[in-house]
Amino acid sequence: MATLETRILNILGDRTAAVLEKSFGITTVNELLRHYPRRYEVRGELTDISTLIADDEVTILAQIERVSLRRANGKNILEVIVTDGSANLSLTFFNQAWREKELKAGRVGLFAGKVGVFKGKRQLSHPDYQMVPDGDDVDAAVAEFAGKFLPVYPATAKLPSWKVMQCMKLVTDSLDEIADYLPSELITKYKYPSLKQAFIDIHQPKELINAEQARLRLTFDEALLLQLLLGQRRAEIIKLSTKHRTPNTPVLVKAFEDRLPFKYTDGQQIVNEEIAKDLSNKYPMHRLLQGEVGSGKTVVALRAMLSVVDSGGQAALLAPTEVLAQQHFRTIKKLLGELADSGTLQAGEISTSVELLTGSMSAATKRAIHARLASGEIGIVIGTHALMSDGVEFEDLGLVVVDEQHRFGVEQRDALRMKAKQPPHLLVMTATPIPRTVAMTVFGDLDISTLRELPGGRSPIQTHLIPVLEKPHYLDRAWERVREEVGKGHQVYIVAPRIVNPDKKLTEREMHAAQMLGEEFLDNQNMTAVEELAPELATGALKGLKIAMLHGRQSSEEKDQTMIAFASGEIDVLVATTVIEVGVDVPNASMMVIMDAERFGVSQLHQLRGRVGRGGVPGLCLLVTAAAEQTQSMERLIAVSQTLDGFELARIDLEQRKEGDVLGSSQSGGKSHLRLLRVLRDEDLIESAREDALNLLKSDPTLSMHDQLLLEVEKLKDQESSAFMDKS
Ligand code: ADP
Ligand code: MG
Repeated sequence: MATLETRILNILGDRTAAVLEKSFGITTVNELLRHYPRRYEVRGELTDISTLIADDEVTILAQIERVSLRRANGKNILEVIVTDGSANLSLTFFNQAWREKELKAGRVGLFAGKVGVFKGKRQLSHPDYQMVPDGDDVDAAVAEFAGKFLPVYPATAKLPSWKVMQCMKLVTDSLDEIADYLPSELITKYKYPSLKQAFIDIHQPKELINAEQARLRLTFDEALLLQLLLGQRRAEIIKLSTKHRTPNTPVLVKAFEDRLPFKYTDGQQIVNEEIAKDLSNKYPMHRLLQGEVGSGKTVVALRAMLSVVDSGGQAALLAPTEVLAQQHFRTIKKLLGELADSGTLQAGEISTSVELLTGSMSAATKRAIHARLASGEIGIVIGTHALMSDGVEFEDLGLVVVDEQHRFGVEQRDALRMKAKQPPHLLVMTATPIPRTVAMTVFGDLDISTLRELPGGRSPIQTHLIPVLEKPHYLDRAWERVREEVGKGHQVYIVAPRIVNPDKKLTEREMHAAQMLGEEFLDNQNMTAVEELAPELATGALKGLKIAMLHGRQSSEEKDQTMIAFASGEIDVLVATTVIEVGVDVPNASMMVIMDAERFGVSQLHQLRGRVGRGGVPGLCLLVTAAAEQTQSMERLIAVSQTLDGFELARIDLEQRKEGDVLGSSQSGGKSHLRLLRVLRDEDLIESAREDALNLLKSDPTLSMHDQLLLEVEKLKDQESSAFMDKS
């Protein structure tokens, strides 16, 4: 009999086991059982073809209506029309005429592939299929390879859904009793099935209600484990002791505020107070500061850093990229003026030293900064990952500010905190607005402050779609608009998804061939590249304008030079990749054109367009896309064009993602412990799991009385750290 730890190799054939491992990283019974079906087909009911959506990976049950073979472009094209009784779908095979023997009109089969659109018609090209054995009674024949409900699994070309289904059957049939980690009082409270029953019910449900119950329980498990992990983490933080950082004489803070050319917004005022209170505690602050781009987070963070310096400590600001670190450095130097010039002739009476530390600096420069950090001479250091490298030591690091949380894992932010002699206070800033449940789930170990209003003087951004498939001439109009904007003395960003195209552009003939192979191929070949677009515009539509490029393959000096030139207005149009996504601040930039906009996520687009309309000039953002109407991609772009509410957009973004992705652990693929939980849909479940987790931890803080549960929490913890390792 098999246990959860049994290797699937011992149950399934070598080849199947190898494919499962390669496709999904599945090696054990436990991992296989956690490869859940997406949905269920009901035996005897053909899939409703009218509901299929372009770009979806589908497995459908359908009947073959007719088959035809023709020749085009030197290829044999086998076209199979399948039907659900009302709607049709076309399946195409190139140069595989022999399939005609299997694919006979009248037969029923399962067909799996990605829904493509060709000449306006939906189709599957080269689908995998499994024909239902011939016979008068289709129902009975289908029942042979499953019960009443056919689970449909996430599948790959090598491993279609029905193969997974067969593996699952073999595994569940040989499964021994398994220990259930969920405390029995919770099983009773929610009337959940046992773990083993849940596995059986989700893979081979007798009735759909059983599958639903099973899914609910397995989703709850995920929510509970996560809340236990976060609860424990939080308890550990509160147990830590550190120095409080309330300055006796807040001279720098005062001098800084005197210099500020504006008043804090009410929101900033409140957050300043929250932070001051946290810093006065003897355990480390652990706070998330969220607010839209431009809501004034940096100013708030700087005030916090200055108050730590006032109390005799040091502060570090960690940025995700060099461009951002450099920009923070410039902004902060500017805001501080002579207050940041300690040790120089310009220094005022009250001052500290503010330095930049990034990986691209010379070894000698770095060493000099390391020495001054270790001696405590530098009060505020701003930098990238370089801050976490071995040579960096602080005299007394009191506060770590992390910009753009989602780019750093928990482990990474901890790496910098380890550099402090006592646990430092932590302030995490993010410009991606986070709905409440997500915040509670993902950042459950952080307190949260939110800046909702933008400081005055910001103008709204207008966003329009340029659907190049339907309205190619709109693109010409867009370039004209760029010229007009520059004519008014403003500047423009043009964003493209990649730096260079590895392959040359396709000829018309190649393009046609690509189309025959399906959209995917076409898309990848034609993604706009910065290094092609910039020269093309410079000699074409935008001739005469000053155009520069900015992207990740340039040296950081080059990037910095370009940003400085753009900021000072020497460049009209900056053609860039998403390196400009976060934080870049050029108030005179009023327009942005985003090429292949469907390539970017909702939140990312929102972040990108936040770069314009910062200087009291109305911002304009054009989303250029070849996405077809009524695709998911198009729906997302429409949403972005219709609202400026970052919270709403974050919601839309998250609705399509799973918890694992939110946590940044999607990389761990087949092994992920969080695969069912969805932060928005499962809001109620998360709330109750949180409550249950807190109760459990109250009576059993170390989970020593729940050893099975503890084991699962530990696994989740390991997985989080290995997800971090994968990414770094
Ligand atoms: P964020 O870091 O949230 O993107 P910043 O702190 O960089 O925002 O602020 C964006 C811009 O608004 C900066 O130019 C900053 O100087 C300015 N700013 C910040 N707070 C205020 C305020 N209370 N009133 C007016 N302008 C402000
Ligand atoms: Mg900022």
